[in-house]
Amino acid sequence: MTVNKLKIAIQKSGRLYDESVKLLKDCGIDLKNGVNKLKTESDNFPMEIYFLRDDDIPQYVEDAVADVGIVGENVLYEKNKKVDIVEHLGFGKCRLSVAVGRSEQYDGVGYLNGKRIATTYPLLVQQFLEKNKVMAEIHEISGSVEIAPGIGLAHAIVDLVSSGSTLLANGLKEVETVLQSQAVLIRTGGLMRVSSRSWINSFSYPGRKKKRVIINIYC
Ligand code: ATP
Ligand code: ZN
Repeated sequence: MTVNKLKIAIQKSGRLYDESVKLLKDCGIDLKNGVNKLKTESDNFPMEIYFLRDDDIPQYVEDAVADVGIVGENVLYEKNKKVDIVEHLGFGKCRLSVAVGRSEQYDGVGYLNGKRIATTYPLLVQQFLEKNKVMAEIHEISGSVEIAPGIGLAHAIVDLVSSGSTLLANGLKEVETVLQSQAVLIRTGGLMRVSSRSWINSFSYPGRKKKRVIINIYC
């Protein structure tokens, strides 16, 4: 009998890595030692694990190169790929926020009219501006967004925030929330319904009949 391995994409390193691996372990899935590898498999389940940059995970799952993946909602909505959310996972919590210089007189979203906003999330910022009927210029950059106002590149930024300490250190204050985000389990749109339901069970009830649930998908 051929066993199709379930392919899961998780972040290779970064803020989602530890919790993603822990989640698999909590579901009873043992990973072969895959330090510095891009791909490993499980010792006790028919599963392959791909370690990727988080930005690439939605595309891999849309293309069914990976069947399921774990990624932040912020990345998922920005990439705008056709995948299904199976489960909100409760970790990787952060918010995508608008921040301006601490001494600015911010009196609501109208402040942003005619301003330039630096971000790595152009689509989400565009949607936020449209929703709030604000005309502003979006300046897409690939990192170090928080220094943009200080060096005269932009009047405001939209970036991820958790504690707010990075904003503070760069003389900025948070003024609007664009998105509340956490890690989600996503799956390829066309994956068989039975698999998806089994996955929901295994993630929702770690420790309860998990072995049988996952093996049922493939036997
Ligand atoms: P990669 O090398 O995979 O592209 P990255 O540098 O883009 O990594 P990380 O900083 O590791 O990404 O963050 C991964 C995800 O963790 C974010 O997209 C977000 O969903 C979540 N996250 C939680 N808290 C924060 C935070 N304070 N700052 C940034 N991301 C956070
Ligand atoms: Zn990334």
